[in-house]
Amino acid sequence: MPPPSALLGKKTALVTGSTSGIGLGIATALAAAGHDLVLNGFGEAEEIELLRLELEKLHGVRVRYNHADLSDPVATHAMMEQALSEFGAIDILVNNAGIQYVAPVDEFPIEKWNAIIAINLSAAFHTTRMALPGMKAKGWGRVLNVASAHALVASPFKSAYVAAKHGIAGFTKTVALEVATRGITANSLCPGYVWTPLVEKQIPDTAKARGLTEQQVIDDVLLHAQPTKQFVAIEQVAAYAAFLCSDAGASITGSVMPIDGGWTAQ
Ligand code: NAD
Repeated sequence: MPPPSALLGKKTALVTGSTSGIGLGIATALAAAGHDLVLNGFGEAEEIELLRLELEKLHGVRVRYNHADLSDPVATHAMMEQALSEFGAIDILVNNAGIQYVAPVDEFPIEKWNAIIAINLSAAFHTTRMALPGMKAKGWGRVLNVASAHALVASPFKSAYVAAKHGIAGFTKTVALEVATRGITANSLCPGYVWTPLVEKQIPDTAKARGLTEQQVIDDVLLHAQPTKQFVAIEQVAAYAAFLCSDAGASITGSVMPIDGGWTAQ
C-alpha cells in the first residue's frame, strides 16, 4: 500500500496559526501526509525553530515559518508572496488562526471586535485571494477554513467571534461555488470545544460574565454544550482536516462540517 503522499503527490500546505493548538495539529497531520509546509503564528522563536526542524526531520518535508501578524493585511500579503515565490503555489491553504474575547455586546471593546473580525475572518480573504490563482493554474487545490460550532449556532458574550465564524462559513461557500469546476474545494470545519490555549484563556472571563466559578464554566457551559461531555481532541480535528485535503475529499465542497460531539444536533 503506497503512503498517502504517493497517492496525492507532494503538495505545499500553508496553515495559519500553526504554532499552537488545532493549527499545529493540522500542520503535523499534513506533514505526516508528506506535504511541504509553511507554518505561521506567534510564539518563542527558539521553540518554533525546534518545531520546524522536528517536523522536517520526522516527515522528510520542507518546513518554513512566517511570523506574519494576520491582523495586518500588508504582513499577510507579504507572507503569501514569500510562500508563493519559494514553493510556486500553495496547494493546501488552511485558514486557522483565531482569537477569542468574551464580554457582553454593550461592553465589548471596539478594538477587540476589530481584531477578531480581522484575524478570524478578513485574513482568510487576504490569503485565499492570493492562493487561488496558483491552484487554478494547477487544477487542484484545497481551502480549509477552521470555523467553529459558532459558525452554526451562537453563544452569549461572543458577538465578534460568532459574527466572524458565521461570516467565514458564508465566505467559504462562495469560494466553493466560484471554483467548483477547477479541481479546488473549499470547506469550513466546525469544531466544538477543543482543549487548547484559546479555550483555557476564555474561562476566567466567561466565569466573570456569567457569575460562575471556573470549574462551573467547564462543566456547565463548555461541556454542557457537548452531548458527549468530552472535549474534541486536536488529533480528531487534524485527521478530519487531512482527509478533506486529500484526493478522497474531492467531492466535498462548500460544506460547513461540525466535529462537535453532537453540540449542533440539539
Ligand atoms: P490557539 O490559541 O491554541 O491557537 C491560535 C493560533 O493562532 C496560534 O498559533 C496563534 O499564535 C495564532 N494567532 C493568533 N493571533 C494571530 C495573528 N494575529 N496572526 C497570526 N497568528 C495568530 O487556539 P485554537 O483553539 O487552536 O484555535 C485555532 C482555530 O480553531 C481558531 O480559528 C479558533 O477559533 C478555532 N476553534 C477553536 C475551538 C476550540 O475549542 N479550541 C473550537 C472551534 C474553533
